[in-house]
Amino acid sequence: MPLSTDNAQSRYATASDALEAAKLRFEKKNASSLRLHNEAIKSLPGGNTRSLLHTAPFPVFLRSGKGYQVTSEDGQTFTDLVGELTAGLYGHSQPLIQSKLIETIKNVGLNLGGTTTLEMRHAALICSRYKLDLVRFTNSGTEANLHAIQGAKRFTGRKKVVVFSGGYHGGCYTFPGDRPAENNVDKEDWIIAEFNDIADTKRKIEESEDVAAVVVEGMQGRGPCFVGTTEFLHQVQASAKKVGAVFILDEVQTSRLAPGGLQELEGLKPDITTLGKFLGGGIAFGAFGGREDIMRVYDPRETSALGHSGTFNNNTLGMAAGYTGLAHAYTPEVCRDFNAMGDKLRHCLQDVSQGTKMTVTGLGTIMGIHFLQDGNKELRNYKDRREDTDLSTLFWFEMIEEGFWITQRGSVAVILGTPWEQLQRFVDCVGKFLERHRNIISV
Ligand code: PMP
Repeated sequence: MPLSTDNAQSRYATASDALEAAKLRFEKKNASSLRLHNEAIKSLPGGNTRSLLHTAPFPVFLRSGKGYQVTSEDGQTFTDLVGELTAGLYGHSQPLIQSKLIETIKNVGLNLGGTTTLEMRHAALICSRYKLDLVRFTNSGTEANLHAIQGAKRFTGRKKVVVFSGGYHGGCYTFPGDRPAENNVDKEDWIIAEFNDIADTKRKIEESEDVAAVVVEGMQGRGPCFVGTTEFLHQVQASAKKVGAVFILDEVQTSRLAPGGLQELEGLKPDITTLGKFLGGGIAFGAFGGREDIMRVYDPRETSALGHSGTFNNNTLGMAAGYTGLAHAYTPEVCRDFNAMGDKLRHCLQDVSQGTKMTVTGLGTIMGIHFLQDGNKELRNYKDRREDTDLSTLFWFEMIEEGFWITQRGSVAVILGTPWEQLQRFVDCVGKFLERHRNIISV
């Protein structure tokens, strides 16, 4: 019987009892994935090559994706709410992108090892959509931030970088709390200010010396989805400008929230914007760009220019797919309508979660679902988030069981073209989950 039609309440006295039962059902239903996991651990540490995708007791293996759905090796088809952590905006087989990729493979070829009109055209479109003077491409969002930061250091002749607690700017730029993660690079260069704390931000930027850059996400993806307030983000910008530091807005995730990104929504004017994810049309991608005088540090016509390499920076597939998607599929109008639908979804989820430990944060079609010990509905930053991990894990197991592909940390990034009925079904299933476990989930 699908869980959502099983309304028996208070079946479990504690979250850990409910969790244990859900885990047993999961193991039974995903026997092929378990077998494949046991094979994968022979050549990959933990059977995994991307930490975030690991789930205990083992991950569900995916076989294929189509449109807004993915299908597992155990034969279950899910509505994909992972949306490849926002990069999968176009889903798994958007027709325009699919045919552009095939055409590029046939008529252009892979990686020409030379300059092409493909990168010129994609650069011009990105510059006009995000109001950048100049842009450069990279292989990933991590690299985009890396080169933006190095460029800022060269431009200012300074060394320190102000970032924010809970921030994420790439695999080697992670700030889980008040210190850099163990595998961060440039450990001694960071000054970490409190996200959404105006006084701390002003103090850290304006009173520290040698600040080359300030890097911030308008909404912290890792939270998932702590939304920066307008006052906070404008303070970051004002303080950075006041001390002559380069203001870098990381829009790797948020660039899809409005035709010109979150900066358009918030009226921000970053010196440099970093981009990635969906702007490669589903192919590995990153970009950084902005003020001409700063970007000139990368102009190879200058003898003192900083080098900026990357074999796949202008790979033909990403340049073609990224351009096609942005020019023809994610037009400004589509973008606005899509994010309005996301806002509607978030409000529906917020409504069903009233009076429970569940909290929903986010903007547009990107959101975070939290299960918190105190049911706090006003999450400003990571310090406010006292997660109830049993409940969030239970939620994940039961949503997977219901046919929703979702990250275990509770982030949702809707895929363009997902029918509203599927999102409504998600709201209904979430409502029934909260009802089913009322005795352990109410506040
Ligand atoms: N910045 C932000 C805000 C991100 O969310 C990510 C990826 N999750 C990155 C940078 C790094 O991008 P990539 O994974 O392409 O290196």
